[in-house]
Amino acid sequence: MKERVYTIPVSEAFREDCECPMCLLEKRLEDDALEYTLGPSMMESDSRIETNRKGFCNRHFTKLYNKQKNRLALGLVIDTHLMEQNGILRKMFEKSLPGIRKEAASGVMEQVVQSFKKSKSETNVFIQSMIDKLSELEKTCTICEKINFNMEKFTDVILYLFFKEPDFKELFLKKKGFCLFHVRRLLEGSLKYLNLRERNAFVVALMEMELVHLDRIKEEVNWFTQKFDYKNEKEPWKNSQDAIPRSIEKISGPSDLMR
Ligand SMILES: [Zn+2]
Ligand SMILES: [Zn+2]
Repeated sequence: MKERVYTIPVSEAFREDCECPMCLLEKRLEDDALEYTLGPSMMESDSRIETNRKGFCNRHFTKLYNKQKNRLALGLVIDTHLMEQNGILRKMFEKSLPGIRKEAASGVMEQVVQSFKKSKSETNVFIQSMIDKLSELEKTCTICEKINFNMEKFTDVILYLFFKEPDFKELFLKKKGFCLFHVRRLLEGSLKYLNLRERNAFVVALMEMELVHLDRIKEEVNWFTQKFDYKNEKEPWKNSQDAIPRSIEKISGPSDLMR
């Protein structure tokens, strides 16, 4: 049996009427992680070591700030993150600076000879190491990692329940599909957690359902555009009034669209 801490939220999300139950799960995880960062995390040295090292991605820095709450906690987290990262960047630069200076002082002839010998330019080596370091820092995010860890557990649980609980399978097949982002996640999960026979059955069920609902949402968006034609002015909106935000969520996953 899977841990109840994961099965309960999964069953709850699948009971809601939405374009993607996994988006609901992910949004809840994100909210919890934001609250945690602005609250208890500040007092826990393990979390601080992690935020100092990884920081946050742009999306999550923005969300932490826009919560407009507990500015002190956010300030302290940023303060020690910068202290650690500034130190690393400074050390990298100071280590390479003598070589860069030497290269700058060398004459044109020496530079030609150097490029001829294909010996590595100190300046280029430093720039590449700095690009690598900054790209890594951009990619690492304490909140994204927490969400990914738990979404992996949820994916495992969804696939488990699909085969072990007939009621859940029935619920699953009545959904309106998933966003494309989470379809990918489910497919990746099927490679990891299912045997070939299960994978076979699952991928057919998933894709048949998904394609029906991708067509449905495409039609809803199409009707939305047709409503702008004066001939259709008096026709009903049907389900299309919010087709644009729902289609964006269907294509790109958890988003914060203003409704
Ligand atoms: Zn989704
Ligand atoms: Zn993030």
